[in-house]
Amino acid sequence: MTTTATTMTGVLLPGNSTVEFREYPIPEPGYGQVLVEMKASSICGSDIRAIYREHLGKGPEGYQGVIAGHEPCGQIVKAGPGCKQFKAGDRVVIYHISGCGVCYECKHGYMISCRRNHRAAYGWQRDGGHAPYLLAEENTCVLLPNSLSYVDGALCACGFGTAYEALRRMEVNGQDRLLITGLGPVGLAAAMLGRELGVSTIIGTDISKSRMALASDLALVDHVLPADENALEQIMKLTGGWGCETSIECSAAASARLLALQGTRDWGRCAYVGEGGAVSFEVSKYLIHKQITLYGSWVTSLKHLEELVERLDRWRIHPDKTCTHRLPLEQAAEAYRLAAEGQTGKVCIVFE
Ligand SMILES: [Zn+2]
Ligand SMILES: [Zn+2]
Repeated sequence: MTTTATTMTGVLLPGNSTVEFREYPIPEPGYGQVLVEMKASSICGSDIRAIYREHLGKGPEGYQGVIAGHEPCGQIVKAGPGCKQFKAGDRVVIYHISGCGVCYECKHGYMISCRRNHRAAYGWQRDGGHAPYLLAEENTCVLLPNSLSYVDGALCACGFGTAYEALRRMEVNGQDRLLITGLGPVGLAAAMLGRELGVSTIIGTDISKSRMALASDLALVDHVLPADENALEQIMKLTGGWGCETSIECSAAASARLLALQGTRDWGRCAYVGEGGAVSFEVSKYLIHKQITLYGSWVTSLKHLEELVERLDRWRIHPDKTCTHRLPLEQAAEAYRLAAEGQTGKVCIVFE
């Protein structure tokens, strides 16, 4: 470690749309743990929905008053005893949930779905990435390829991982067109990854003019449509009256959830990843009679996070392209305010 400081400033979210700074001791890595110097720590829609505005989460989404930030990426400065793979100097993305490690889900790499009391997500039930250092379990670290930036890595920890998992589960490929409802950070991620997986036509919808403009400016989407009463007709027009073979719902709006199904071609696949809220629709008309396979998909697995960063390296693409705002930790209040407005691309706290 290059620092002689013993304390650090971390960010807490009291749940009233403010941020609070508090002093913490810099942690010491125990057995199988590493101390990671934070380089980038982005803000997720879930942070806004379940913690920043109000503490509405329960169980896996229950916020326990810890240092916020569940999309951490940095460089290991100290490895505790018993570490088997990582050492000081390694650049790592942190899979943001530490599971029990021995249940069915953990053994398959889906620590997100671990139901044991041992399960703790960084930034939710254990200290997260909005501080200069993060204490991480070695088995939640994934090596960041040299070609990827720390912001690239942070964006993979949750958002890009979530988009990748859903596209992978739908087995999106070159025979497919892709409809994306919601062009926030996860929707943009789906567009960027969908393209690399071979999708020929990408259609995106959103209600925010600035998000529509961003998707166009980044050239990630072939057609950007306002999510209004004409959207379905436009989607049909753009697809020869068929709809898209695959769709991914990233907004959590009930109307967008329905639009995703309506815009999916018969026998197509649709994935819901936008969190929260509810939806009701005519099941026979929109799901059964259309022969649609509907996937619910929650974050990703350790294995697929590792696979994702490897592929990003090979594809030579950079998630950080979707990051529109980078702010230092001292400006965390402004960072959260921007993210909560929902008009930007990804907002990321950076440390250098
Ligand atoms: Zn998240
Ligand atoms: Zn487990």
